[in-house]
Amino acid sequence: MFSRFLPQDFGPFQGQGDPLIDPVAELFEIRQLAAHFGQLLCAYEAGGLLAVMDVIEMVVRSVTLRLTGVLAAAAWLATDMVLAGETAGTQWSQGAKLDFEVFDFVFDDLNSWIGFHISDILFMLSDNCHSNLPPPTEQGFCAWLAIAQQRLDRLAHTPATSLGDLEIAVVEELHRLGASLLTQAANRQAQATAFLCSRCQQPLAREAKNHVRKIDSVVGPLQLSRDYGWCPKCQDWCYPADARWGLQPNAPASPRVQEMAAEAVLKMPCAQAEQSLPRLGGCSLSSTTLHREASRQGKRALALQQADQHRATTVEGVVHLAAQAAPPQKPFVLIIELDAWNIRERSDWGRTKSLRKKGKEPERWHWVYTATLFRLDQRGHTAAKRPVITDRGYVATRAGLEAFEQLVYAEALRRGLTKAAQVLVIADGAIWIWNLVESRFRRATQRVDLYHVKQHLWSVARELYDQDTAQARQWLRPLFHQLKNKSDGGQQVLGALKELLRNKEKMTPVQREQLAKEIGYFTTHAHRMNYASAQRKQQPLGSGAIESTCRQYQVRFKRSGQFWSLAGDEALLALETLRRNERWSLLFPHSHRQPVAAAQG
Ligand SMILES: [Zn+2]
Repeated sequence: MFSRFLPQDFGPFQGQGDPLIDPVAELFEIRQLAAHFGQLLCAYEAGGLLAVMDVIEMVVRSVTLRLTGVLAAAAWLATDMVLAGETAGTQWSQGAKLDFEVFDFVFDDLNSWIGFHISDILFMLSDNCHSNLPPPTEQGFCAWLAIAQQRLDRLAHTPATSLGDLEIAVVEELHRLGASLLTQAANRQAQATAFLCSRCQQPLAREAKNHVRKIDSVVGPLQLSRDYGWCPKCQDWCYPADARWGLQPNAPASPRVQEMAAEAVLKMPCAQAEQSLPRLGGCSLSSTTLHREASRQGKRALALQQADQHRATTVEGVVHLAAQAAPPQKPFVLIIELDAWNIRERSDWGRTKSLRKKGKEPERWHWVYTATLFRLDQRGHTAAKRPVITDRGYVATRAGLEAFEQLVYAEALRRGLTKAAQVLVIADGAIWIWNLVESRFRRATQRVDLYHVKQHLWSVARELYDQDTAQARQWLRPLFHQLKNKSDGGQQVLGALKELLRNKEKMTPVQREQLAKEIGYFTTHAHRMNYASAQRKQQPLGSGAIESTCRQYQVRFKRSGQFWSLAGDEALLALETLRRNERWSLLFPHSHRQPVAAAQG
């Protein structure tokens, strides 16, 4: 569509040979680019040739010498177009008057341009593409549309391009338009922001206007501008718009980019996310950027988690947390399930030798204490009749048992601990769990996971019947029945085990040892084996919910060959837990926005 404006007398190419592209292709490209620029420059200022010339001169003088060649050619074309009456409000007389001068300075610049590699210029131009945005005016939109259509036309006529190539090109072009719209809207948002300190809300002394901040957004890099000032109270500089925009200090990621990085890194390792994000239609982020950004969001999540942990230790905090729980419609049972899994860290890396000299093995595996909490009345079924918990809380930390206890308490308060008719804790036999329950949830009903109890009986059976599973099964069947269906099932099984001791002379030492161990286990936990009443009340008999929770965490945090650092894993665990607890919007307030439903017609 620009062919009528392409200079026919451009002359043979006089620059040095360029190793990257042949002269004919260079000339073609330079003319294409010049055409784009000419169109853009005309679109910038529709008021007439004088205004166009102002813009051209301003741009030509402000860019490096290497670019002036292209811009000069663009100026030439722009003049042509204005003279041909291509833009609104063209004034022929002024155009004619300026004609001579324009050509003079165009050729001046063309002369200084010759001698540079054109491919350098092209690369510089493509790098600068986003800072040459068409303004979101009708004229700018027309220029954008013309360029986009030309590119798509060319692609459509290029053999071996698919619909996928067109899809990519369309998204890229839309991003260019989007960047322009977003820049304008964000700048308006900045102008509409009260000029107050974002820390103390006091008025700021204005220092400078329109200070530029470069950010990475979902539509590519942007340059936003906002005012900043001095806060006399905080004795610090403040950019009120930065807080309004949700940008973090010294971090270029826009809120959507922050969210994308956080979500992606929770799902997969950074290197994989780097490849997957663009394929899924997200923006291109290097694995380093992804890692840095996800860590930053992890630290924010960790700060929120630590605030909850602190609340669990003060009266005001406990009242605040308890107030978060919705008032119950009817009496309910709050279920808390606890377990732990381990994570591999590189905390002792490089210290292996020195540690071993001191007779210590380096600690690489560390416990991640994990809890899940839900109300019994918040269980439902999927369409396929699979049981599902509709509303569920999570806790996961490797910061030790004390922190874990406070976090579980905080989450339980949020989920209605003080309003529950009954609190039920289900877990395996680990002693730390029941110590925690005794100290923090003393009035809770305790239940040891049925599957684990059965495993303990199996270990006795295997010893007694020398791995003969048919006989072992026969011995176990009535015990399992008692355990599950009798109100004092645990005690009955304990009695049966003690009964075996009568024949202990006939047992091997290993059998005796195993039996004594399991009698100890049943003595400790028999009162937690309340499965008959659980069945009557339709409560879970086991801790399946926490076991699947731990498995889900481990899918991300325990990949083969993966090492974490304490700071890194705790922050990412906090981020994952925040997401699971559906408090994502505390970090990403925009995530509240649901897609707008299509208008009903
Ligand atoms: Zn302040």
